[in-house]
Amino acid sequence: MTFQQLGVIDPILRALSAEGYTNPTPIQEQSIPILLQGKDLLGCAQTGTGKTAAFAIPILQHLYLKLQNRQDQRGRRKIKALIVTPTRELAIQIGESFSVYGQHTGIKNTVIFGGVKQGAQTKILERGIDVLVATPGRLLDLIGQGFISLKDVEYSVLDEADRMLDMGFIHDIKKLIALLPPKRQSLFFSATMPPDIVALSRKILGNPEKVSVTPDQTTAEKVEQAVYYVNKPGKTKLLIHLLQTMPMESVLVFSRTKHGANKIVKLLDRAGISAEAIHSNKSQTARQRALGNFKNGATKVLVATDIAARGIDIDELSHVVNYDLPNISETYVHRIGRTGRAGLSGMAISFCDDEEKAFLRDIEKLIKQKIKIVSEHPFVNYKPEVTAKDAAVPYGLRKKSKPSNAGGGGRPKRGRSSGRKTA
Ligand code: AMP
Repeated sequence: MTFQQLGVIDPILRALSAEGYTNPTPIQEQSIPILLQGKDLLGCAQTGTGKTAAFAIPILQHLYLKLQNRQDQRGRRKIKALIVTPTRELAIQIGESFSVYGQHTGIKNTVIFGGVKQGAQTKILERGIDVLVATPGRLLDLIGQGFISLKDVEYSVLDEADRMLDMGFIHDIKKLIALLPPKRQSLFFSATMPPDIVALSRKILGNPEKVSVTPDQTTAEKVEQAVYYVNKPGKTKLLIHLLQTMPMESVLVFSRTKHGANKIVKLLDRAGISAEAIHSNKSQTARQRALGNFKNGATKVLVATDIAARGIDIDELSHVVNYDLPNISETYVHRIGRTGRAGLSGMAISFCDDEEKAFLRDIEKLIKQKIKIVSEHPFVNYKPEVTAKDAAVPYGLRKKSKPSNAGGGGRPKRGRSSGRKTA
């Protein structure tokens, strides 16, 4: 199947071919014809499947053809397509995709998100644009200030709906839906489809066509995976050991917390390994800089939290390391999907301590495969050295370490996947 056979027009075909896209991905093959017919769409797909192009191409095509047919093309452009996405990184990336695929169409897009001054964003909006990519908070804010009107919107996309709900955007989304004209084509994408997401989709979509790309088809098969059993204190030691002994060119390390991410960077730095962290406590400029340094190879390791990493688009990522295993199994699939892109081979390494073994079982159930266990490494039973400070404290007064897996009582809380029983 080719993009041409899907009905994509020449100005977009040229851009796709310049990007090196020879064939549509499964989500594109399924979605593009439906969307070109003007139907609503409910898409179950995660980042990494090519879903951005799946919605951007038909929107650009509709807008381009309408622009060609319009007699008077001189007036100020009005927002015809609205894409709402949860994070700044995703918003930037979607905007870039519209610019790339639409480079020969004359369709103008812009991106707005919070955490930065609004002046530069409102200036572009005032000049007039066709496609607006936005995060919910800044979007509502600028609507409230009168910089944005949604009354001309003909295409709306809600991207990463499950993440949007996880991040607490439900009220913002409901407010936005109420502001959209009823006559429009609506697209709704989510990596998972739990009942609250299905309920939300019903509020937005009228009789949609459904397409689905299941995560295990797209990632688990092409990414080599391994798990190292290691206790908490041994994790950094093991990470440094692997980075020093294995050929790992560009490594994305996932940390559950922002504090943890900073700590990993500090310890890697001390070991002489270039690393930077990205998470929501960092300014937008610092995050962009860190991402830039990583992309151009100046830093070898990027340490990220899940939310910050959503949407990071790095094609040549050799390794993903799950320093902490996620408590939601789908998150594991999202994480490892960052490597092994565009036909390249990738490797995902996970560290698993006693408390995380239940998470590992859940993940293996979801991806329907057993992950290879590496049982021989120098930090299997790592015991941290007693520091001079510890040694000075009489033994009975030292802080007790937490029990590692005290009959489930000490187990960290599981998220949505907790509904699934483990074997
Ligand atoms: P997405 O799921 O939209 O984040 O896209 C994942 C990655 O796949 C991006 O780096 C896209 O540039 C790339 N991509 C999307 N569609 C295609 C295609 N048909 N052929 C090759 N690469 C693609």
